[in-house]
Amino acid sequence: MKPIEPLAFFDDSAHARWRSDFPILEERVHGKPLVYLDNGATTQKPASVIEAERAYYLHSNANVHRGVHELSQRATDAYEGARARIARFVNAARTEEIVFVRGTTEAINLVAQSAVRPRLQPGDEILVSAMEHHSNIVPWQLVCAQTGAQLKVVPIDDSGTLDMAVCERMLGERTRLAAFAHVSNALGTINPVKQLIELAHRRGVPVLIDGAQAIAHLRVDMQALDCDFYAFSGHKVYGPTGIGVLYAKARHLEAMPPWQGGGDMIRSVTFEQTEYNAIPWKFEAGTPNIAGAIGLAAALDYVDAIGIDAIGAHEAALLAHATQAIGALPHIRLIGTAREKAGVLSFVHEEVHAHDVGTILDHEGVAVRAGHHCAMPVMQRFGVPATVRASFGLYNTRADVDALLRGLSKVQEVFGR
Ligand code: PMP
Repeated sequence: MKPIEPLAFFDDSAHARWRSDFPILEERVHGKPLVYLDNGATTQKPASVIEAERAYYLHSNANVHRGVHELSQRATDAYEGARARIARFVNAARTEEIVFVRGTTEAINLVAQSAVRPRLQPGDEILVSAMEHHSNIVPWQLVCAQTGAQLKVVPIDDSGTLDMAVCERMLGERTRLAAFAHVSNALGTINPVKQLIELAHRRGVPVLIDGAQAIAHLRVDMQALDCDFYAFSGHKVYGPTGIGVLYAKARHLEAMPPWQGGGDMIRSVTFEQTEYNAIPWKFEAGTPNIAGAIGLAAALDYVDAIGIDAIGAHEAALLAHATQAIGALPHIRLIGTAREKAGVLSFVHEEVHAHDVGTILDHEGVAVRAGHHCAMPVMQRFGVPATVRASFGLYNTRADVDALLRGLSKVQEVFGR
C-alpha cells in the first residue's frame, strides 16, 4: 500500500467551492446529509450543466439541421459546437469522428452491428476481458449468435489485473476485434489500454475501448491512444443522462453502413434509392438529444476548468485513504486490488450480504451501489454474489470516506459482527 499523499487532496477552500457547484449535495436523505459515493453508476450535475440545458430550452429550442429560422440555427450551432467541444476534450483528429449516441451501451451496439457484424464469418473471434460490463459483453454475444463467430475471454488474476501474456496469445488470426474496458466498473482496475492497442494493432486487430468509467477520471487522448473506437456516457462525467459518444476513426465511420435509418442520416431519398449523409450524421438518425449534447459540452467545460489531472489525483488520494481504512476492518474483503486503479472501492462483508450493507449505509445517508454492477462474470470470477461499491467523484472528501466508515461500524452494531 502506497502511503497517503495529503498534498494530492484539493485544498479545503477550493474543494468547498467545487462541492458547492453541485446543488444536490445539499440534500438530506433519511434526515442525514447526503454522502454520495455512487459515482460509478452516475455522477451528480453541477449548476452550470443544469443551467446550460435550461438556457437552451429557454432561448434556443428548435430542431437541428432543418429550419431556416433563427432558433433552428441557434440550436444547430449549439449542437455542432458541442460536438467540436467533445472532439477537443478527447483530442480527436477530426470533429466528424464524434458520433452522438444515447450512451456507452448504444455506442458499443452501433460498432457491433455496423462495423463488426458485416465482417464476421463463422469461426471468427471477438476478444473481450473477464472484467467487462454487460454492455461490453452482450452486444458481442448477439453479433456472434448472428454470424457464427465466437466470443473469447482474456482472464484476470486474483487482484483483478488482466493477464497480458495470455492476451497476446489470444490475439489470433481469427480475431476481428478486441474490446476492453479502460477502467473496470466493478473492480476499479485501470487497463493498460495503450499497450493493449499496440499489441492488437501489431496483429492488424482493431480495438474498441469502453471508456464509461475512465472519462471522468483519466486524461483520454484519442490520437495518443490510436484506438479505433472509444465509447463513453455523458452522465458519468457530470453531464446529462441520455447522451453519450462514440468516437471512431473517420476511415472506419466512412466504411461502416448506417445502423438506423430515418431523418437526418440521408442526403436524398427516393423509393428506388437512398443516398446517405456524410459522417457523423450518417449515424444519427432522427431528432437527436440536442439539450443533452449541450449539457455534455458544459460538463466538459466544467471538468476542464478544474483539470482532469487534479481530479484524478484527488480521487487517487481518496481511494488510498479508503482502501487503507476499509481494508483494515474486520470481516471486510476488498474485491479488486490491482496496482493501477481508479476511484472505485469494491468489497464484501464476509457475513452480511452486500444488499444489507447497502441498506444500512443508505439509512446513514451514504449512497453506495450494492449488487453485481452489471458485471456478473466478475462476481463469478471472485466467487461472490454481489459487492458493495463506493466510487468517488471530484466532490467527495475524506469526510465522505469517514461517513462510510461510520456506516460500516453501524453494520457491525446491527449484525453484531
Ligand atoms: N461500461 C461500463 C464499464 C460501465 O460502468 C457502464 C455503466 N455502468 C456501461 C458500460 C454502460 O453505460 P450506460 O449505461 O451509460 O450505457
